[in-house]
Amino acid sequence: MSKQVTTNLYESNGETLTWVKVNLTPEEFALTQEDQIGLRRTHNLGYIGPAKVINFYCNKCEKFIAGSPELKVRLDFEKFAMGDLVGSYYFVHDPEEHDLRIILSGPILRGDVEGGIIKPEYVERDNLGRVVPITRERISGILENILQTGKNGPETVREAEMLAEVADFDFREEIQKARELLKQRGRLDYQNPENLREVFENIIQFGVGEGDSEEGTYMREVASTLRRMLPYLRIPEELVLDASKTLELMHSWYCERYSGIEQEIQEKREEIEELESDKKEVSQAATGVHNFLCGLRRRLHPSA
Ligand SMILES: [Zn+2]
Repeated sequence: MSKQVTTNLYESNGETLTWVKVNLTPEEFALTQEDQIGLRRTHNLGYIGPAKVINFYCNKCEKFIAGSPELKVRLDFEKFAMGDLVGSYYFVHDPEEHDLRIILSGPILRGDVEGGIIKPEYVERDNLGRVVPITRERISGILENILQTGKNGPETVREAEMLAEVADFDFREEIQKARELLKQRGRLDYQNPENLREVFENIIQFGVGEGDSEEGTYMREVASTLRRMLPYLRIPEELVLDASKTLELMHSWYCERYSGIEQEIQEKREEIEELESDKKEVSQAATGVHNFLCGLRRRLHPSA
């Protein structure tokens, strides 16, 4: 018989301080930790369902509100899958009015999923279909949404692909279409002269970037996207000069990289030649020692 314990739990998010008051069993209570101001933390508890919530405090409304905030659960076995962590939950209060106010968030552990305590209606995302069964309708819903709106990123296509793989449904054609559409959208971004101008100006100002600096990485990514988009670009008259400067920079960057790689290949080649010659020498030494050893053995055991 577990006795119900009521405690205050809170999530401090920079300036915001929000509270959720829940019923906990003594075992659960023992897992919470008190901080300096005497509030109890929820991190060790794993999933907390709305049934446990008595009320919550919203510091934007500046009041306690009875019942549970809206619960959202995201299970992502690909992204999280580190030990027992397989997802996260959020208690959200009036997200539109408050521009998404999260009252409490926390981890979802493998055991929470296996224990069957998470109700499908709270689940926003479940990429292995552990709580929300995977249906053809669900997958085609995700894909149709991408095809109709052109919104969402490659991540969402990947989600649909994973669901199809797990359930062994064939959605290859639709997935291909969605990928194509997102690619085209990327092209459109680069066909917008304002975006193009910005890219050119950045590359001219910072160069294509060197080494592993944040700037270098960013510029390299931009440069590589720009290169892929070249066949689809229409350069407006007023950007021709900038475009030419940018492409000159990119060209010399690729040339430099090419000669760097060539040099590396040459060095590795010399290393390999050295190793080959070592190998030959070692093999000759082993043969010599072996032959001498055979002679000694014959002298030790003449009858053998
Ligand atoms: Zn509020």
